[in-house]
Amino acid sequence: MILTYDVLISAGHEGRPASCAHFPQHHCNLGAAGERAWTPIVADAATRILREHGVSVVRLPADFAGKYRVGAAVFIHFDGSNPTCRSSASVGYAQPSGAAAAAAWHRLYGRYWPFGFQPDNFTNGLRAYYAYSQVQAREGSLVLELGEITCPAQRAWLAPRLQWEGALLARFLSERIGKGRVPDFQTFQEQATPKPRYNDMR
Ligand SMILES: [Zn+2]
Repeated sequence: MILTYDVLISAGHEGRPASCAHFPQHHCNLGAAGERAWTPIVADAATRILREHGVSVVRLPADFAGKYRVGAAVFIHFDGSNPTCRSSASVGYAQPSGAAAAAAWHRLYGRYWPFGFQPDNFTNGLRAYYAYSQVQAREGSLVLELGEITCPAQRAWLAPRLQWEGALLARFLSERIGKGRVPDFQTFQEQATPKPRYNDMR
């Protein structure tokens, strides 16, 4: 059976390691330090706002069973890097519909996010995400790395904005599927200010 919703939102690494025993094929990556605490906050905020605007959302942890047909899907993550500050935000997708969705996310998030993006699909985890095969998303399935949590400057920027990240994501998803009309929130007024490239900051 395929379950149908407007939007699928999965919080990266949420529910692990407990869920790993049931999904040995997922390799049980627990994420970067602190990542597992942050992804549900963003996912819950986005879900709440979308539901308030009449959008049906299936809100999932990292590991889930079954197949879904949705308008759009996002898998929320924060990147980790060792050495630190070698990464930034990034987007992953496998389907052609993901490329247009990724470009739209670059345009929207890039207005605010000051630390730039890695190339789309620059890691195997982005290119071949384990859950892509469980989701058909008309307007694309995206893995979103919202920044590098292991980089102190990026972490400091992200930490007070997790609710805002969820709100931005809600607006993005609402626009992608043409449903819900989530408005621009006042907190979106903040614009990206040019920062030194992260390689210059050490
Ligand atoms: Zn992750």
